[in-house]
Amino acid sequence: MSQAHSAVEARHLVKGYGIVRAVRDVSFEVSRGEIFGFLGANGAGKTTTLRMLCGLIRPTAGTALIDGFDVFAQPMEAKARLGYLDEEPFIHPHLTGREFLDYIADLYRMPRGPERQQRMERLLGLFELADRDGELIGAYSHGMKQKIGLASLLIREPSVLLLDEPTNGLDPRSARLVKDLLEELAARGTTVLLSTHILEVAQALCRRIAIMDHGNLVATGTMEDLRAQAGSAQATLEDLFLRLTAGPESSALIERLLAPQP
Ligand code: ATP
Repeated sequence: MSQAHSAVEARHLVKGYGIVRAVRDVSFEVSRGEIFGFLGANGAGKTTTLRMLCGLIRPTAGTALIDGFDVFAQPMEAKARLGYLDEEPFIHPHLTGREFLDYIADLYRMPRGPERQQRMERLLGLFELADRDGELIGAYSHGMKQKIGLASLLIREPSVLLLDEPTNGLDPRSARLVKDLLEELAARGTTVLLSTHILEVAQALCRRIAIMDHGNLVATGTMEDLRAQAGSAQATLEDLFLRLTAGPESSALIERLLAPQP
């Protein structure tokens, strides 16, 4: 496949659930080695977009491409390049962390041997899960599940990572580890598309940011692009986010809630 293709491309993606238009007409491209952040209010359509890009749900219309391969027309080619972490990842509860990584490595036909073993041990060590041997994943905390989910992607070194809220539930040290790791992977050519509600994560990590609102992409670009679009050179990402996803003022809502009943 020629390098002319973007690592990820959403082409006019649309997803409807009955009368709910979860994703309306979303198009964007992510270049190789770029960290691209997806922001949006609850229910804006981020997870639905990520799930279409990884082939988990079929779009009502539009195309999802990974490294130039259509996720639905050429699923083997696309998925071989892809690692996807769901916001609620299913991780087999009856396996230990080590067994789960082994299972994933088998599933992706990674040759058994010292190299694979070493990579597995390094990942377990990195995520501080090596000494939890013998413990079933079902007994893991939320953050530990998140970490073994990430390890299960990284064991097979995909060139594109689609991560739905990867730092959700992680303690500050683990969150920092994940941020540093993603930066290092991107520097080595891995493409990362992540959704997050943590604006600091988006601002620190992402070269470009897309903001979704009610199923639409309302802005895409670098911080400078977003500031220019909002006409405010000093705006923080929080200012931009609140401006672009305008809802009722929270102070007015709180006042109404706490107002004495007639
Ligand atoms: P959050 O930040 O809360 O995770 P999100 O931006 O990821 O939100 P989505 O989960 O993509 O949002 O949901 C977008 C819209 O689609 C919401 O209105 C949601 O209720 C709806 N939706 C998502 N999945 C389904 C489904 N399986 N059936 C019906 N409606 C759905």
